Amino acid sequence: MILVTGSAGFIGAHVVHQLLSLGHQVVGIDNHNPYYDPGLKARRLEALTGQRGYIHVRGDIAAPGLVAAMCRQYGPKGIVHLAAQAGVRHSLVDPHAYVESNLVGFVNVLEAARHHAVDHFVYASSSSVYGEGGGQPLAEDAPTDRPLSLYGATKKANELIAYSYAHLYAMRCTGLRFFTVYGPWGRPDMAPMLFANAILDGSPVVLFNHGHNARSFTYIDDIVDGVVRVLQSPGEAAAGQPDQARVFNIGNPVSTPLPAFVSSLSRALGRKARLQFAPPAPADATETTADTRLFEATFGPQQFTALDAGLARFAHWIRIERAQRADRRRGPRRRTYAGAAT
Ligand code: NAD
Repeated sequence: MILVTGSAGFIGAHVVHQLLSLGHQVVGIDNHNPYYDPGLKARRLEALTGQRGYIHVRGDIAAPGLVAAMCRQYGPKGIVHLAAQAGVRHSLVDPHAYVESNLVGFVNVLEAARHHAVDHFVYASSSSVYGEGGGQPLAEDAPTDRPLSLYGATKKANELIAYSYAHLYAMRCTGLRFFTVYGPWGRPDMAPMLFANAILDGSPVVLFNHGHNARSFTYIDDIVDGVVRVLQSPGEAAAGQPDQARVFNIGNPVSTPLPAFVSSLSRALGRKARLQFAPPAPADATETTADTRLFEATFGPQQFTALDAGLARFAHWIRIERAQRADRRRGPRRRTYAGAAT
């Protein structure tokens, strides 16, 4: 049994799906928070709850004792901890949500793992732990003492807390620094989905920092593959580390400047994009390019999905998602006595 937190989230739902297809039993927890469209979370879950081997708990990881009670009841061997208040910019607006989920919640999940002898605690960190000026690509030992946002600071705090638990209680804790993830069932607050909706609506695509930012856009399947490989390799993850706490980047080693990303996305969608350039947004890094050498040296080579291939799949999904959303907005069609729709 594997416990996945944040299982109604973008990455969480994909990870659960993959674990189930590999034959694992999974118990998931998510509080379905309203940070973005709860309908999207509900639809991700619909696809999971019908599957054999999945148990869903709707609840808050920050609630005292809840994750511990789940561990007592289900005895998971591994935990994939993905629940968090995500989003760099929103951390400027609602800092307490980040403290509650990313710090209080994080310690609750870690305590539960500790008291229930979980073999491997794998958790989401982020490329947001890196500040500016460390050089590119970003290797794991680049400076992380100056995160640009509270979100990044909570993720760095997670790494420090995990280190102290691994050291004190001989726990295997592995942190994964994900780089800008995109794909089907993606997050509506993130650039790929915002840009795709703007292109399809004919609205301007706003590029901060006058279009000079670049990101390691990473296709969701590559993230899921990395998470599952790490989860299944606790020995490799901890190898050579007496404290058994390590962090790894998972991200496309090829980064893309934002204007080039928009061109590829607009090609995939078959629609022209209108660009609007804006000054730098507070807390935004100029560039995040993943150095994957440590991950690959530890877990073996990893193939990353080329941007055009990933965007083709994302574009296919978003067209269907928008069409279904439009259908739902129209509501159920009235039927006449003869069954013909009116
Ligand atoms: P997401 O917001 O789609 O998923 C997070 C899920 O956690 C949501 O469904 C939310 O309802 C749930 N959640 C939040 N607080 C909770 C709480 N207190 N109790 C229970 N559930 C709670 O985000 P995501 O993109 O799937 O991100 C998953 C993890 O990866 C997060 O930790 C995020 O910080 C990290 N991450 C994501 C990216 C990315 O590009 N998507 C990049 C770096 C790191």
